[in-house]
Amino acid sequence: MQILVIGAGVVGLAVARQAALAGHDVIVAEATSGIGNGVSSRNSEVIHGGMYYPTGSLRALHCTRGRRMLYEFCASHGVPHRKCGKLIVATNAAEASKIAAIQQQGLSQPLADDTAYYIGVFYRRHGYPSVDVKYRIQGEILELDISEGLYYKLGEIYFEGNKTFQPSALNEYMVGTTRARFSQFQHELPFVEADLITGTSLLQSFYVSQGFPQVQIVKLSTIPDAKRGAVDAVVTIKEGPRYYFGPITFSRNPGIPKENFAPKISALTNPPKPYSAAELQNLQRDLTFLFKKEGYYEASVSVTPDFKKAQGGAVPITVDAIPGSIYHFGALVEHQDPRARLRPKFLTARFSGLRGQVYDPDKLTDLYTKLYLTGLFDALDVQEVAEPDQRWPAERRGPAWLR
Ligand SMILES: Cc1cc2nc3c(=O)[nH]c(=O)nc-3n(C[C@H](O)[C@H](O)[C@H](O)COP(=O)(O)OP(=O)(O)OC[C@H]3O[C@@H](n4cnc5c(N)ncnc54)[C@H](O)[C@@H]3O)c2cc1C
Repeated sequence: MQILVIGAGVVGLAVARQAALAGHDVIVAEATSGIGNGVSSRNSEVIHGGMYYPTGSLRALHCTRGRRMLYEFCASHGVPHRKCGKLIVATNAAEASKIAAIQQQGLSQPLADDTAYYIGVFYRRHGYPSVDVKYRIQGEILELDISEGLYYKLGEIYFEGNKTFQPSALNEYMVGTTRARFSQFQHELPFVEADLITGTSLLQSFYVSQGFPQVQIVKLSTIPDAKRGAVDAVVTIKEGPRYYFGPITFSRNPGIPKENFAPKISALTNPPKPYSAAELQNLQRDLTFLFKKEGYYEASVSVTPDFKKAQGGAVPITVDAIPGSIYHFGALVEHQDPRARLRPKFLTARFSGLRGQVYDPDKLTDLYTKLYLTGLFDALDVQEVAEPDQRWPAERRGPAWLR
């Protein structure tokens, strides 16, 4: 179906996402130049608890469910958020009576709804996939009507499309989340659909780490078998091509001997390691560190794979490094807690040997470790600050450190 969503606020985007995930063709039309330009980006950023809405209203119901879904979404997508609770303060008599009304409501609908929901989650996590928990608020009493449904254990997990790895290797990723919640001596595990869905993400990450950047876990089907009291699962995988690290070359003279990089490079290329974006990022970080070790404190290093030139799965990687200037250890700015027992300038004296030397993070770490191990410090925090020294523009001095 073709779907047109008008308005790219949080509501329009959520509707469009859901429709797209269901396989529809979706167009989002927005009057302004970008998404979320309306009230969606100009609100108080509170995840509402729902205590203000009248019991039984749709608003109370959707607010409570929406809150749970939002927390789950934030957790699964790495969106920073805080569950900090809420303090309701009355600033005048009228508000005090409103608070009293909330209090008198006793068992609020959000609380009741949450209770029923989490009981359902508990059952589903223990092998009752079709549990149904209904609730009714009777004054101060919450009536729960639990229909457990059948218990199902986790049956067999079958894989389709896995050309590279044995089912036994893949199985661990699928059952690991459930297994982690039960004793290792418990042979039979319950069927928990949410855990299997998590398992498919773990499986996907495993494939990606093994050189399959385009892998798709196309489908997870669950097949309940009431006779055995078990649910089997079929995971359909489209592996896509496998890539390895190919030749790693510098686009320009790196300015320091290439031998310095040899161990890092051959760790990826000899024998060729499966390609992954995470390993590439490690390479970038490691090469930058090697420049830093030679004093190039602000070296800029980028690493670029070229999949179009990959031969036999070996992806050539180009390193573009701009070392910048050599830095030296500079002045020490010492900050001490006034209650500290150390002599003034104690640290300055300890660090004075480094001053003027070419910057090397390892030297700083060695000295820091030695000082810390003396046991003289509850906390010792070293902060590096690059400070170009105007007096020696050709050979800039810095960083200065210590707080
Ligand atoms: C002051 C304030 C504080 C709030 N605080 C909170 C809070 O703490 N927590 C919370 O959960 N909620 C809060 N809300 C409510 C929440 O922000 C809104 O419910 C939510 O953002 C509404 O999203 P929306 O997508 O419906 O609207 P919008 O974000 O306004 O999106 C509508 C979009 O449609 C576009 N549009 C309009 N007409 C057309 C057209 N004809 N063609 C194309 N595009 C069009 C607009 O440009 C806009 O981008 C607050 C609201 C306000 C006003």
